[in-house]
Amino acid sequence: MRIGIGYDIHRLVKGRDLILGGVKIPYEKGLEGHSDADVVLHAISDALLGAASKGDIGELFPDTDPKYKDVKSAELLEKVYALIKDKGYVINNIDTIIIAEEPKFTPFKKQIQQNIARLLNIPADRVGVKAKTNEGLGGIGKKGAIASYAAVLLELKKKKGD
Ligand code: MG
Repeated sequence: MRIGIGYDIHRLVKGRDLILGGVKIPYEKGLEGHSDADVVLHAISDALLGAASKGDIGELFPDTDPKYKDVKSAELLEKVYALIKDKGYVINNIDTIIIAEEPKFTPFKKQIQQNIARLLNIPADRVGVKAKTNEGLGGIGKKGAIASYAAVLLELKKKKGD
């Protein structure tokens, strides 16, 4: 068993779509970034890489590389997952937290959970999605950013004959 943790934060700005867990959320602002700035998938990607001691997404997909301009984070997650699987790991479960003052995520949590499960080809009951506000405190509390944490548990898949 290997445990991994990931964190990410991006600023909220006008004129961008808000994409979280690969799901487009209706809101007046979106997250600023080189890619689609999906903090949830970035946190999950980093948690997966951390659990397998494979560095972080900043190393793998530098934001100075034009190749990753406006790239979908789902594609980055897919690349990360391929690395993990290549090392013989399977995902036991994932847990995530979205920290945002707005919008309210209750109507979207299930959709985000199902989409993460679909992207990773695991049952939805192995994915936890929780949302909370920052109680008005700091940049997140002033609606200037959204952050996400993720934890994952990987298991080494038994090879035939083990
Ligand atoms: Mg990021």
